[in-house]
Amino acid sequence: MKLQTYTKCEDGSTKVSFNEPTVADAFQFEDINPKLEQKALTEYLNHMLSDGQDHDSKNWTVYDRITALMWIYVLSRDDRSVLMTYQCKYCNEEHGVPVDLASLFKSLVYAGREMKEPFEFGNLKGVIVPLRGYAMERLEQLTNLRDSHPINSKAYKARNDDIYLYRIAYSVELDGEDESLSPDERADQRVEEFLKRPLKDKSFQSLVAKVRIVASEMRHGLPCVIRDGGVLLVTQEHECPNTEGAKTRLMLPFQAVDYMPSLQLEGQETADQLAFILD
Ligand SMILES: [Zn+2]
Repeated sequence: MKLQTYTKCEDGSTKVSFNEPTVADAFQFEDINPKLEQKALTEYLNHMLSDGQDHDSKNWTVYDRITALMWIYVLSRDDRSVLMTYQCKYCNEEHGVPVDLASLFKSLVYAGREMKEPFEFGNLKGVIVPLRGYAMERLEQLTNLRDSHPINSKAYKARNDDIYLYRIAYSVELDGEDESLSPDERADQRVEEFLKRPLKDKSFQSLVAKVRIVASEMRHGLPCVIRDGGVLLVTQEHECPNTEGAKTRLMLPFQAVDYMPSLQLEGQETADQLAFILD
């Protein structure tokens, strides 16, 4: 069965049709390693497309990937709420709040601008673009590589610098690039180009600053913020029950694997709950 049509938030016009997840899909996509979730997310979205559509979610923006995943999740379940707990800064107690994921779609944003912004810093010229699926997959690989080294080691620091450089590299296209190369090869060339630039001409530093500003202007889809490489969904405000008028904006940590289909067998849940009680 097909779900209600999804409209890409990047342009507000491209229509995408997804199938409702089945038991077979749950078998295929449950137990995904969270460290490989960007790759799995590409496979999942492509797998769920209804027949005959020419889309590859590898090329979708990070925002459309998250939003489409949540779209399928919300439309294919009866229970759309998650219990969120947070440490209240007003009374120092922990509060539990049910968050209705369907309600997040009331704040959906369609991009009101082109996804390309020209820049020119000396002879460093090109356009700023949003991060897309192939970039997220590469950044995930680089993050895993970094995390395979002990924190504070030289290797960890070097890989962390790579993540920084590649985040910028995937956020731009430079003038005169060879378009027959893959997105990853082009990113490699951009990193080389950045590294050899004279420090004093400040073109790279200026580009980093501009990418930050433009990236936030290009934001679309469900309201979210990207912090330390992780995504937080912006949800409702919650008023502290112990302090009148003291409200906290709730930010729900987002992991793609949490919204892929799973069987949720009754017996398994009971066993988990039992284990919890016995703990
Ligand atoms: Zn409180």
